[in-house]
Amino acid sequence: VNEQMAKELVVRAGIALVESGLIARTWGNVSCRVDENTFVITPSGRSYETLKPDEIVLCRIDDASYEGTIKPSSEKGIHALLYQTHSDTNFVIHTHQLMASVISATGLERMPSFGFALLGKDVPIAEYGLPGTKKLREGVRKALTKCDGHTIIMSHHGALCFGENYDETFSAAQQLEDACRAFLRKLYLETSHTTVFNEAALQRFYISTVLGEKISLPEKALCIYNSRRTPDGFVLEAENETVYHFTDSSFSEAALIHCEIYKSRKDINYICQDAGGELFAVSLAKAALRPLLDDFAQIVGSSARNAQSTQPHHIVQALRGHLGVLVPGGGALCCAATQSDTQAVRLVMEKDALAQIGTQLLGGKHELSLFDCLLMHFVYTKSYSKKAHTIPAAV
Ligand SMILES: [Zn+2]
Repeated sequence: VNEQMAKELVVRAGIALVESGLIARTWGNVSCRVDENTFVITPSGRSYETLKPDEIVLCRIDDASYEGTIKPSSEKGIHALLYQTHSDTNFVIHTHQLMASVISATGLERMPSFGFALLGKDVPIAEYGLPGTKKLREGVRKALTKCDGHTIIMSHHGALCFGENYDETFSAAQQLEDACRAFLRKLYLETSHTTVFNEAALQRFYISTVLGEKISLPEKALCIYNSRRTPDGFVLEAENETVYHFTDSSFSEAALIHCEIYKSRKDINYICQDAGGELFAVSLAKAALRPLLDDFAQIVGSSARNAQSTQPHHIVQALRGHLGVLVPGGGALCCAATQSDTQAVRLVMEKDALAQIGTQLLGGKHELSLFDCLLMHFVYTKSYSKKAHTIPAAV
């Protein structure tokens, strides 16, 4: 393909990846080979929904260098590596897809391919390296030498999928997701000695192994609701939107939680409750959410604590220094300055929770180091604050 066609293909792929749920926000990247010397790749940190072909960056295959003012993805080196070593590869996507991310946190070196045609004999899991580093590229290089299919998993991070063209690469990503789900099922059935696999069964098994006892689960999560800050209080998005002022004399139980969070945290303007399966299960297991994936460490930090009780002061205490907190029996509260950022917090917490439940099947030993988490969170927060986001001023 010529340069212009390659750029248009990359734009199309970015939109398709977001729509398919294989990547979220600007996490992940896409590239397409132009000829034996060059490829084009998505830029760093721009939204895929609005990306234009002239924002796609041309890079050299031999040294990943580029010309022009738009910065290519920081993982351009990994894409360049693939084009160098695989002459039949013309399209590469790096995703943060859910099931591959879960398996990426297991600490294993490979995963069976369950007969999926594009996955080869098995799928290697590359050694861990911090995003954008030489160590990461070396891990990927080694994993590629063991790979006879079209995908590898990147430890604690996501997946790398490649193929002769756009369609083959997307099929490989989808097959990888299906194989990872089959692997999680296999791990569950082997560990639990049962015959039925579904989300609820997996969550119950997780809770009972963490707590060391079988408990009867509440049918419904505690309702804490979502809210948004106003100049002198907040609006609780319960059945009918209730407006509260900090000076009010009576609050509902849920409202009191929001009130205490807003009063103690000037950086938070939105609170969103996620009582969905995985986070509900982790909240009931009284466990903290440990850092198992890079995007969680970047956005949320080194952990999300589980509050000692549902008392507002315990929740505020557990949230200190973090953007997410687990509330026993209430799932998670995801907090941020903007509404779209609460969704980012929510997404990475959900994924990390499933990874935590999945890795528990193998003893749950492998997590990111505290140092790596602090570093990633620092770099992310710093680069993020440099960008011109319209964060409403906290009041
Ligand atoms: Zn990534």
